Amino acid sequence: MKPVLYIVVPCYNEEDVLPVTAPMFLEKLKSLIGIGKIAPESCILFVDDGSRDRTWNIITALAEKSRYIKGISLSRNRGHQNALLAGLNEARDKCDITVSIDCDGQDDINAVDEMIDEYLSGSEIVYGVRSSRKTDSFLKRNTARLFYRLMSFMGVETVYDHADYRLVSSKVLKSFSDFREVNIYLRGMLPLVGYRSSCVYYERKERLAGKSKYSPAKMLTLALDGITSLSVKPIRFITLFGSLVAVLSIIGIIWSVIVQITGNSVAGWASLTCILCFLGGVQMISLGIIGEYIGKIYLETKGRPRYIIAEKTDKKQN
Ligand code: UDP
Ligand code: MG
Repeated sequence: MKPVLYIVVPCYNEEDVLPVTAPMFLEKLKSLIGIGKIAPESCILFVDDGSRDRTWNIITALAEKSRYIKGISLSRNRGHQNALLAGLNEARDKCDITVSIDCDGQDDINAVDEMIDEYLSGSEIVYGVRSSRKTDSFLKRNTARLFYRLMSFMGVETVYDHADYRLVSSKVLKSFSDFREVNIYLRGMLPLVGYRSSCVYYERKERLAGKSKYSPAKMLTLALDGITSLSVKPIRFITLFGSLVAVLSIIGIIWSVIVQITGNSVAGWASLTCILCFLGGVQMISLGIIGEYIGKIYLETKGRPRYIIAEKTDKKQN
């Protein structure tokens, strides 16, 4: 039986690039259907992440023109990960496999063939991994590398140089629906679901049009969310560091008592100031890290919806 494929594409203010990439994706889908690799019910699902430009109008126009194109629109901008999750959840019960891909053409859509082959030979998750980052800027390349290293140091299981271009079967998505947390970091969470997985390598290209929608602030948020939602190691570091400082202070106390008894106690203003400043800094950072986790707990207990779908192109399903 040929699998039904949903290509899930999150879009945020992408009016410049959608008219370029949508036909590319459509052509790919049609050719896959043509060669009999996937079922004819397959389609492309665009998720408009609360764009403020004409993105949603473009998606609805595309959906009117082709039965292979569908769209959902979120009620406001919820960020890449939530938009992607909205699309995957929407697709979950209607397909056998999903492929998530950015709408800017940076990920090579031709790698989908190989992903489907991997699925057919038994993998439930197929990660698209960048074989090179030649087209990324120096800053982006190095911050990204640093980020992956940091993640693995923090004990988060991620696939190196894999972003959010991957094939996920509906079986995995159904198991994943039991993960109810509101802080989501898909590329770190999906490996936790288990099942057989494999990698497909592709060359990362330059954005075909428009600008990156990942501001440095959004990247930092993603990194912090990734670490704090998947690992408690930072808190453990604080405990370890605190213990170390405690041991050092005991030595310091013994030392100062000895100095006092032997009558050599000269006023040590500089050393005292340094110690005070250092400990003050360490305490503030530690409180900040713990606060970050408490904030996460706060958001989780509220259990607010991760996204709200405002509109769908497929009126029947509304
Ligand atoms: N995106 C989104 N919501 C956001 C930011 C980005 O849906 O708040 C989408 C964006 O339209 C694109 C994908 O996420 O399809 C990746 O974003 P981008 O290409 O700007 O990131 P970069 O490749 O520069 O890391
Ligand atoms: Mg991009």
